[in-house]
Amino acid sequence: MTRTRQILVINGGSSSIKFALIRDDQPEAVLTGLAERLGTAEARLRWTGNGSTAEQAIAGADHARALATLLPLVEAAAAGGLTGIGHRVVHGGERFSGACRLTPETLAAIRATSPLAPLHNPANLLGIEAAMAVFPSLPHVAVFDTAFHQTLPARAYRYALPEFLYQEHGVRRYGFHGTSHRYVSQQAIARSGLAEAGSGWLCAHLGNGASTCAIADGRSVDTSMGLTPLEGLVMGTRSGDVDPNLHGHLARTLGWSLPEIDRLLNHESGLLGLSGGLSNDMRTLEQARADGHAGATLAVEVFCYRLAKSLAAMSCALPRLDGLIFTGGIGENSALVRERTVAQLHLLGLRLDAAANARCIRGEQGRIDNGSPSPQIWVIATNEERQIALDTLAVLAATP
Ligand code: AMP
Repeated sequence: MTRTRQILVINGGSSSIKFALIRDDQPEAVLTGLAERLGTAEARLRWTGNGSTAEQAIAGADHARALATLLPLVEAAAAGGLTGIGHRVVHGGERFSGACRLTPETLAAIRATSPLAPLHNPANLLGIEAAMAVFPSLPHVAVFDTAFHQTLPARAYRYALPEFLYQEHGVRRYGFHGTSHRYVSQQAIARSGLAEAGSGWLCAHLGNGASTCAIADGRSVDTSMGLTPLEGLVMGTRSGDVDPNLHGHLARTLGWSLPEIDRLLNHESGLLGLSGGLSNDMRTLEQARADGHAGATLAVEVFCYRLAKSLAAMSCALPRLDGLIFTGGIGENSALVRERTVAQLHLLGLRLDAAANARCIRGEQGRIDNGSPSPQIWVIATNEERQIALDTLAVLAATP
């Protein structure tokens, strides 16, 4: 009899820890939860398992205390059978093209990558260090958002900047959401009935953060995010691409500092900025658009046009186009965004089936194109936690 293997997946933020207990033999997590507002008097732990949700105040708890509090929950849910811990790490730089076992050497390499992701990697490391202290006898594995994109060719990852910035300072395009792009593209290839060899797929991960990816032979060959997750598409509060001279222009004309410009581009722009400050949430914008709100209408139009342009650009990297995948909160739920986007991609031969598109919301997945000879179009729910658990198991199998 083969034994079920269970992995605790941890996604550490600066003041939060998201976790999920994944069994290798079932698609849904056994237990999911979030410890948030860590380090404050309002710190709380919330979890869902066995169909019910519970909550506990953990006033003043840091990452280690939050993990110590959830340890008995995880052990009860896993019935003593935890195989290992998989950690999401945002940036692996050029050092990591796949998941790796956490050792003093790999931890030091992740720490050395922190200047490339100053908000994310130190926060991920907080979660890792706390988890290694609370679960000292279990193996720990890091799975990187950037790793899937390490197959990009130089023509896709180099900026047109002086070479020393790349050679000495790592200034290049890295790409993010790799775990999601990999998971849904593997699902699409498996469900499509088409061979992976010679295949070409486009993928749109559309959540609060959003990116596109071109996948040839199952490998990432281009993606819309760059050195940081700000490049590319319009996102919830992130601007995506702007003229690089905007920084100098705002500094000269408004006297803004770099932190002020960073805040503008990362937290006050995107759908929120375009909608005149109404919302960064696509559900709210769709409703307001239906009610005739001009800012919401513009935000949806710009979002879809920029997405279509990015997908068309990504198609340059593919040998042929087998299909397009929508995923993420917006990609999995917004028939409107899918319809407006695909309508602007008719030159790629993409055609939607309106009824199938309307049906694929709230967890409903499937194929939504109108049949051959058009390339396939799929709505596939992403499951980054499961991919992290599977990668963790693969690393443990390779390095027992
Ligand atoms: P994520 O970051 O993947 O959780 O995605 C968050 C985004 O998905 C937000 O913009 C939500 O408004 C959007 N979203 C979730 N459900 C729906 C829905 N039913 N219709 C439109 N957008 C949705």
